[in-house]
Order: sequence, then C-alpha cells, then structure tokens
Amino acid sequence: MRPVPARLAVLGTALVLTGPLAIAQSGLTDSQRHAALRELVALLSLPNVATNQADIRKNAEYLRAAFERRGFASAVVATRRSPVVMAERPPDLPGPAGGGRTITFYFHYDGQPVSPADWRDSGPFEPIFRDGPVEAGGKLVTLSMGGPISRDWRIYGRSSADDKGEIVALLSALDAVMASRQRITATIRVVMEGDEEAGSPVLEEALLAHADRTRGDLVIMVDGPRHASGRPTFFFGARGILSAELTVFGAKADLHSGNYGNWAPNPALELSRLIASMKDENGRVLIKGFYDDVVPLTPEEERAIAEIPPVEQDQMRAFGFARPEVPGDRLERRHNLPTLNVEGLLSGTVGGQGRTIIPASATARFDLRLVKAIDPARQFNRLAEHVRARGYQLIEGTAPTDEERALYPRLARLVQIEGYPAGRTPFDTPLAQAVIAEVGRALNTTPVRLPTLGGSAPFYVFTDRLKAPTIGMPVANYDNNQHGPNENLRLGEFFDAIDAMRAILTMKWLSRASGLGAGAWGLRASSGGEMGG
Ligand SMILES: [Zn+2]
Repeated sequence: MRPVPARLAVLGTALVLTGPLAIAQSGLTDSQRHAALRELVALLSLPNVATNQADIRKNAEYLRAAFERRGFASAVVATRRSPVVMAERPPDLPGPAGGGRTITFYFHYDGQPVSPADWRDSGPFEPIFRDGPVEAGGKLVTLSMGGPISRDWRIYGRSSADDKGEIVALLSALDAVMASRQRITATIRVVMEGDEEAGSPVLEEALLAHADRTRGDLVIMVDGPRHASGRPTFFFGARGILSAELTVFGAKADLHSGNYGNWAPNPALELSRLIASMKDENGRVLIKGFYDDVVPLTPEEERAIAEIPPVEQDQMRAFGFARPEVPGDRLERRHNLPTLNVEGLLSGTVGGQGRTIIPASATARFDLRLVKAIDPARQFNRLAEHVRARGYQLIEGTAPTDEERALYPRLARLVQIEGYPAGRTPFDTPLAQAVIAEVGRALNTTPVRLPTLGGSAPFYVFTDRLKAPTIGMPVANYDNNQHGPNENLRLGEFFDAIDAMRAILTMKWLSRASGLGAGAWGLRASSGGEMGG
C-alpha cells in the first residue's frame, strides 16, 4: 500500500486516525451493476417461505455455493428448524497489518408468507423492475444488456428489501473488491438465518453452538429500512418486546342493561378506568417503576439524535394527526423509552343494531416495547402490580371460579404472551464509529445514528448472549413494502449498500494494540473488541 496522508476524524471522545482512501470506494461499472442485478434476480426467484423446508434448503444451498465461489469456507448448518448458513474468509492482509479484526455480517434469507393475488403484474418470486413505485404508477422496465440503469428503478419481489437484497449487496461488494484487486482487511464472517420472520427461534442456540464461527469484534446486522429521511442509517440497539392480555370480569354472562344497569358492574367501563390509570395525558406511563431501569442517553447519543434530519412534521401530515404525545420531543428520543401500547380492545358488540347489554367481560391487548436494561419479566410484574394496586384479584385460570366470584369484588386475568429483552451496544464503541465514518465517506454523506431502533429485533442475542459489539446497518428504502405485497428495493439504495459494504471490507482498522507495526493506522490503541459495559 502506498503511504498517503492520513485523514483525521473526531469521533465522539476518541481521536481516530483513519487510513488512506487508497482507491475510490464507490462507482461500480455498468457491467458490475448488471451482474449484481442478475445475481439478485436469481436469488429472489427462489421461494423462501420457511414453512416449506424444501424451498428453504435450496436457498441455503445457493448461498453456501455463492460464498464458496468468492473464497469463503461455508457450510449449511442444520438446526431443529431452518438451517443457518455460515461462511468465513480470512483477510488478504493477515495479522496486525490488517488489524487482526473479525467482522461478522448477519442476514436472514427467509421471507414473509405471500398472497400472490395481491401482487401486481407478477408473482412474489418472479422479480420484475419498474421505473418508480407501483403506488405512484411506476412502469415496468426491462434491463437490456449493458444498458443504462437508473437509481430510481426498483426491483419487485419477496425479500428484495427484507433481506435478500442485502445479501446480494455483500456478494457484489466482494466481486467489486476482487475485480479491482483491493484487499480485504478483516476476517469476514457471515451468518444467514432462515427463521427470522418466525421470530428467530433457533438463532441463539445456533450462534452459541458455533460461537467460534459466528462471533466478531463487530457484528453488523444488515436488515430493515433506512431512516425515513432516506439517509444511510446505523443503529446501536433494538427494542425488546413483550405482549400481554388483560381481561376484566363482570357477571358470569351478559346482563340486560335496563334491568341491571346502575347496579351490576360494567367491565368495559372498569377496564377503561384501569387503562386510563396507566398513562397520563402527557405521555408518561404511571405504572410504578416503569422507567426505573432506563439507562439515560449519553451526551453523544443526544447529539446524534439532534443531528438527525427531522421527519416528524412530514410523518404527522402523512399519518393524519396534529399533535404527538409529547410535542417538541424527537421521535428518535422517544425510541429510547419503554412503551405501554394498547393494541386492541374487545367487549360486547359495536356496529349493527347493538345489543342493550352489560358485557360479561372486557379485554385489552398490550404490547410493551423494552429498552436496554429493562427485564421483560420484571416489567410484566410491574404491570401486574399496577392492576392489583387498583383493587383487582388476578386469577390463575382462564375464567374465575364460583369461589373467586363470591370472594373478590374485582377480578381480572393478566397473561404474558411472549417476550425478549432489548440489546444495545455502547455508542462510543470505536470499531462501530470507525465503520460509520468509513461508510459516510464512501457514500459522501453523514449517516443517521440511532441509539435504539424503534422496532424490536433479536439484537440482544448478539450483544448479551454472544457478547459481541453489534450495530445495525439497514440499507433498504423505507417505502419498501416490507412484509406486504409488492415488496421492492430501490436500486439507488441497493448500489449504495454495495458501496458501503465494499468500504467496510477494505477499511483500515485501528490496531488492536499499539506497537504492532500497524504504522500510521495505529495512533490510538483500541479496546474495541470488548463490550464497554
Ligand atoms: Zn428482515
């Protein structure tokens, strides 16, 4: 490598001396773009709904071979459900010269179930191109050999955005690196699971059983859409989640509202009061201890949020409401607090002619999004404690017994449906910040940095179980119709993803310890391989 003046970048509190931009990172040739899209079409043509294991195995085998062709040792690793494909490639610059780092990319190759009738012009596994979003009248286009390709075009097909386009972006980045004789500077590991859309039931056991093949100094989860501003995006954590159902009981059966109104208890009203007692008008949950374990944002995290282009006004207009819960607070700040959300309510009947009854019961379903350090079981217990403190006896069975009905004036049932915790990587993790800076340079923009993604993802499996610093790098356009019909990936985002991954594959890592011949790169010894707490 030629010595080129190094560039200084100030990242948080750490002064990091980064390596030279030896070779232009971006700009695939037209033939490379065509090759990338051919590979994408081939992979999207393989049906990948996890309930069909024969289909799933074809995907896994395709991916194993695709990485093997690019110099990886790869394997289809059996689990009790879909196999996990694992691949590993040593660096071209071994030892300290390459920084001795291991980077693990995570993807999933399964897709959401499909209802082919809802797809426009072609089936979910017959990828097609349009010159714009189908909702805006985008017209079908065909790729002519070597012809021009617009960044505004989109490819339509199941898993184009979630999450096969991302895998092909890495394959194409590897091709581009090799074609231009760039050097891959870290050990690259790839983990691809086949049950993500079913809630990743075997991811943890597969990762832990093969930790020697999956752990990285940094794990990069490549899944999901970019921030709504359209900027390249990174997140340092994802929320956990638990769901709960609360039923308040009245009489054994519906009662006549004339004969017994003003006398018998009304569970719909009781449940409404109970829910209203849980959250005040300023958006603050009133359940005791609900925010106790929240880890406050650091000044650097607050700064990152302040730098995010505001999207709230546009989104409120698009969604059609005039006032958020807490006016003036940023949406991305609110993602760092736990939520108590009422998903649905059920009692009596509505519509039609109505029935003049006092309903026998009323049920609410909640989801509670969790943030780092909030234990799902503990948060559920706080909810239960709140219900008890309002005078309710929580029953064990599905319906109250006669004894319980005789004994307790207020009866309710609270059931936890599912739950897993949040995970978060410290914002000042040097490797993470170095990757973000590198991608920012490659794409010539400032990426959005989110301390916590609003949605839930099995992030904790990497951060807390595998003990690997982890960041998310969602690359798809945010209007990708993920999980619905007409899922699509905008080609501009696809090509950006290739450039971003190419930059990561070839970036100069900080030396693990100073004095290991890392030359100008190793100004600051880094402990980036460990979790910062
Ligand atoms: Zn996904």
